Amino acid sequence: MGVTLDLSRGPAAAAVPVKPNLAGLTRAELAQALIDTEVVRPDKARMRATQLWRWIHHYGVTDFAAMTDVAKEMRASLSEAFTLARPEIVERQVSQDGTRKWLIRTAPGIEIETVYIPDVGRAGALCVSSQVGCTLNCTFCHTGTQALVRNLTAAEIVAQVQVARDDLGEWPSPKEDRRLSNIVFMGMGEPLYNLDNVAAAIDVIADNEGIAISRRRITVSTSGVVPELQALGERTGAMLAISLHATNDALREELVPLNKKYPIAELMAGIRAYPGLANAKRVTFEYVMLKGVNDSPAEAKALVQLLKGIPAKINLIPFNPWPGSPYECSDWKTIEAFAAILNRGGYASPIRTPRGRDILAACGQLKSESEKLRASARRRATAADPA
Ligand code: SAH
Ligand code: SF4
Repeated sequence: MGVTLDLSRGPAAAAVPVKPNLAGLTRAELAQALIDTEVVRPDKARMRATQLWRWIHHYGVTDFAAMTDVAKEMRASLSEAFTLARPEIVERQVSQDGTRKWLIRTAPGIEIETVYIPDVGRAGALCVSSQVGCTLNCTFCHTGTQALVRNLTAAEIVAQVQVARDDLGEWPSPKEDRRLSNIVFMGMGEPLYNLDNVAAAIDVIADNEGIAISRRRITVSTSGVVPELQALGERTGAMLAISLHATNDALREELVPLNKKYPIAELMAGIRAYPGLANAKRVTFEYVMLKGVNDSPAEAKALVQLLKGIPAKINLIPFNPWPGSPYECSDWKTIEAFAAILNRGGYASPIRTPRGRDILAACGQLKSESEKLRASARRRATAADPA
């Protein structure tokens, strides 16, 4: 018996015109939107955009009515033309260790996982996604098993920070004692394949009159898209993290297939040329610890050699297994021995303590809910129709 799968989410929405959302635009886009809709005269657009900017990004308001220094009639025309609504939060989970995870739906089929991890960075870090899915099939990464759905827009990246801030109660933007002090682009996707949107989002997040997270507290992690490194540095001023995971090309090609295109020597040359590299602005090298694969003392020594002369930190990441993953995490003793060799070589190498494991919030486990639903629907269909 055949089955028909209905994966739609209810009847198609009636054609209600969607109001443009101002909450994720850059300053220039915001001013332009005001002009294009003729809500504001062109000569007043910059002034008005600055005023709105503070309300949106410093106070975090989601309703024009809250903008008390904007005339009532103007507030009414703004809310007629635009919205400041947040995307839908499909799921929210809080781990016993304080890690929080949100599943945010910005459009049908676009479901984004974002994770807040306390006690990372200065106070706490938000791990944001830059794509839904990924085109690069790193063999140890759960996201890598999912096809790319699409790049996220700058607004969708900024929305992840806004949702986290709403939930942490961090509006207006606190000067001190923030819980969300750092941003890491270590969620789903390869940020350097979506650099335009990542750079625009960083402009919004780092703006001093808004969310005001300094560019030095924003880290972009890449699997090694060498031709984009220079542009990343010049356009964002962000801190660089490189997912290295192996010290020779043969093994790195296996773990990070992108290495076939940009081998280690090219990657290292690109990193050495990263704008602003200095002891105060070091590159973070991420190294996932895979049992019996890349965790020997010889590899630790090779890592020290490879990074010679680069202002670097090394983050050892215990592998987070996922259902069906082909690796195991190295034993704790092995990880400690590896770290000790790096330390003797002059590199601080903190071992990233696994966080939020009870809510599957760890690195490499982010995989959108829509994909999981599609997968389980496929399984159900196969079970129902073995033919
Ligand atoms: N695509 C970018 C950023 C997202 S991945 C990149 O690859 O750098 C963020 C980090 O999580 C990377 O260092 C990645 O290698 C690591 N990671 C992915 N899957 C993991 C897993 N199962 N266990 C531990 N770390 C993982
Ligand atoms: Fe993509 Fe990064 Fe996962 Fe590799 S590790 S598949 S680049 S998200």
